[in-house]
Amino acid sequence: MKDRVALVTGGGRGIGRAICCRLAQAGAHVVACDLDEASLAETAGEIKAREYPGTCEAHVLNVTDREAIDRLVTALEESPGHIDILINNAGITRDGLMLSMEDDQFEQVLTVNLRAAFWMMRAVSRLMVRRRYGRIVNIASIAGVMGNPGQVNYAASKAGLIGMTKTIAKELGKRSITCNAVAPGFIATAMTDVLPEKVKDGARQLIPLGRFGTVEEVAAAVAFLASDDASFITGQVLIVDGGLRM
Ligand code: NAP
Repeated sequence: MKDRVALVTGGGRGIGRAICCRLAQAGAHVVACDLDEASLAETAGEIKAREYPGTCEAHVLNVTDREAIDRLVTALEESPGHIDILINNAGITRDGLMLSMEDDQFEQVLTVNLRAAFWMMRAVSRLMVRRRYGRIVNIASIAGVMGNPGQVNYAASKAGLIGMTKTIAKELGKRSITCNAVAPGFIATAMTDVLPEKVKDGARQLIPLGRFGTVEEVAAAVAFLASDDASFITGQVLIVDGGLRM
């Protein structure tokens, strides 16, 4: 991925940080974005400490701020001058059963997980279209494929992201831009740490591989779809779930 520029949202921790590291390991210049400056500094520090061939620049970005997205993309258009890879990874949960879910809870999740991904893709693909090259990978979820009780907002956002992925794949394919989704199952991060032990045990029993996935395992799938090796793959949903959905 030498000479490729990869923009990763939510790159400060969890799956996003692993994606940043993996892309830098493959030689990309990574633009890591997140809400939190300190966690971004840790991502950049990790890439530097491991002496990966790629580099990392960090930007504080709230993906729900449409104007900030446009400002960042305009700045990147100046330098380094192009964006080849976009990973829409930033995501949140605000779980609750549908009967007791507040409008706010629903809206917040839709805004971060779905609207913001649309804003990112619209802004970044303008640059990709010009260069006739692009790799977009959206981090969806198995919840968007199967549904999940307690996550009507989250499942709707991730199912929406999958619909958007397929549509953008069709709209931008002729410009050699691919758009795919990775749908992780249960992955060990802060997002799943908060689940009660009983729920985690129950989930492990349903997963044929008998464990939660690691952030590196998700990052490997993302890196493949973001690479030139995946040049004839678009509009797909790659499920990384240890066989859960099978
Ligand atoms: P995580 O550890 O909670 O990390 C999420 C990252 O997104 C954090 O760095 C967070 O920043 C950032 N973020 C949240 N809101 C943001 C905003 N408005 N603007 C910019 N950045 C924002 O979660 P994760 O488990 O790594 O999840 C990453 C992605 O994978 C999400 O899209 C999630 O839905 C998806 N996923 C995860 C799992 C799983 O089992 N973990 C399963 C399926 C799908 P702060 O640290 O500053 O809050």
